[in-house]
Amino acid sequence: MTKEPKSAVLLIYTGGTIGMKDSGNGLVPFNFDGILEEVPELRKLAFKTDSVTFDPLIDSSDVEPSMWVKLAEIIRDNYDSYDGFVVLHGTDTMAYSASALSFMLEGLSKPVIFTGSQLPVGSLRTDGRENLVSAIEVAAAREENGTASVPEVAIWFDSKLMRGNRTTKVNATAFNAFRSPNLPPLAEAGINIRYNRGIILHPGSGGLRLHTRLDTRVAILKIHPGITEQVARNVLLGDGIRAVILETYGSGNAISKPWFTNIVRESAKRGKILLNVTQCLAGDVDMNLYATGKALKDAGAVSGGDITTEGALAKLFVLMGEHADNEKVKHLLAENMRGEITK
Ligand code: ASP
Repeated sequence: MTKEPKSAVLLIYTGGTIGMKDSGNGLVPFNFDGILEEVPELRKLAFKTDSVTFDPLIDSSDVEPSMWVKLAEIIRDNYDSYDGFVVLHGTDTMAYSASALSFMLEGLSKPVIFTGSQLPVGSLRTDGRENLVSAIEVAAAREENGTASVPEVAIWFDSKLMRGNRTTKVNATAFNAFRSPNLPPLAEAGINIRYNRGIILHPGSGGLRLHTRLDTRVAILKIHPGITEQVARNVLLGDGIRAVILETYGSGNAISKPWFTNIVRESAKRGKILLNVTQCLAGDVDMNLYATGKALKDAGAVSGGDITTEGALAKLFVLMGEHADNEKVKHLLAENMRGEITK
């Protein structure tokens, strides 16, 4: 009987708290050898691991779309040599990066697992060690037929695996910093890692395709009591803004006063893409429910369903990068591309 070859996982270290130490002047990142020293358990793994380190290492607050392109290209260039990828990333923008990569990598048949930590890996009570070891285990996991258990872009944090484009950072200090409010976890760790196989996505037959042309001309407008006409006008009719994510109340409601709906209508008339997402953590947009939502729909906004704001931003960047026609983008926003919305 031939033995299955050992899985190989590529660790891509971008920075973040997981690999930081105290410089006396705030936390600064240290190089990957530092992580290996702090997590000797990595040497005990049954899988082969290699690493790539970003230069410079960054606090994820400095993440830019060019870094997502770099990440996507590293994954593509190493795709045939590894069974899975673990991206070590700061928590602040991890949900944005995981969302972006989920749209940029189409036809993924291997896991791309983001993880990080709330405490540096060198500190005694760190959550980084468990997060890192488990993320590697998930990236290497295969089903009996040899295919990857989770061929998706996902986030491993505090014993849970969540679909990247469904996830949002909800706590600045707790170990359970991330939540996937509209989709149950893809996996959970107890003594074993239990996979929620019914909801894990599997690729079609086209192979990996990259989408690295991103159009970032998007603004996010959070509706709030007291928002002024000037602010709404500046964003919704602003130059250099091709799409606006409207973060609305509840199930997609905004101010019903004519001054506001007129600006929305004018914006849509100028061809801008207006995507309605809810500011609530969970649930979805239904613009037919209340008159205030209906007014937005009639004015030309499209529903984001139960997408996260991070997912909406990433989806727009990729779709707008691919298509010059805004009507086409609006049409595609309604499609479930990478499991980012419930349909
Ligand atoms: N500011 C850090 C970052 O996002 C926070 C963290 O890693 O948790 O890079």
